Amino acid sequence: MSAPVAFEIVVGFAMFALVFVPLERWFALYLRQPVFRPGWLTDVTYYIAGCFVGKFSDGLSLSAMLLMRQITGVDTGAAVAAQPAWLQFIEVLLVSDFIAYWYHRLIHRFSWLWRFHKVHHCSPRLDWLANVRLHPLDKIAGDCAQFVPIFFLGFSAAPLVAYTIVLGFQGFLNHANVKISFGPLRWVVASPAFHHWHHCNDSETYNKNFAPHLVIFDLLFGTFFLPADRSMPVRYGLREAAPATFWRQIIYPFEHSQ
Ligand SMILES: [Zn+2]
Ligand SMILES: [Zn+2]
Repeated sequence: MSAPVAFEIVVGFAMFALVFVPLERWFALYLRQPVFRPGWLTDVTYYIAGCFVGKFSDGLSLSAMLLMRQITGVDTGAAVAAQPAWLQFIEVLLVSDFIAYWYHRLIHRFSWLWRFHKVHHCSPRLDWLANVRLHPLDKIAGDCAQFVPIFFLGFSAAPLVAYTIVLGFQGFLNHANVKISFGPLRWVVASPAFHHWHHCNDSETYNKNFAPHLVIFDLLFGTFFLPADRSMPVRYGLREAAPATFWRQIIYPFEHSQ
């Protein structure tokens, strides 16, 4: 691993830890849940691996976009990038959330895809770091499903960077061990409660709350679940016992048929 890449990984991890570890102490959902909970090192390994997998996904998405432009002869870049940056940001958000919603719904629906995605669901506790527990093939497929259309449409750099930063943080926040009320905004923005219910190990909540950033598509397509009488889940994870270590989880989809 080269020094700049190692530096980027360490600084990125430290930055997220500096934000979310104190946040989880101040707004703890489960106060007794330790920072170094079981599986912590496994998820640090996912974080490091995810940095490389993310770079691979970016390259693959850019190549696929260039190929699509060449095949179709369509290039909407100039017209799309000419719009105001705030409007492009909203468009990026809606397009990527719509695709992410359906990608996520499909990988829950089909057992051969669920084999890979259940790695993300196998953590019996949620915290900020559980966000990165994604099987590399699930991450590559999910990233490409979202990025190829976004790159193809030709949004300019500023809204794409803003989207990556702001919503990257939302991913960590929504897995964090926090109890933070979004008030009326919970009907618009995906909150920690919204995503915690997605991870709840209770058949009533299976296949709910698929979208990563907004709740609009779950409301529209009937998968929204945010009960007023129960604030947060108490059980997370899978019905089956899952392996605990990184490498065992990498081969897990190839071992199990459930
Ligand atoms: Zn899921
Ligand atoms: Zn999740």
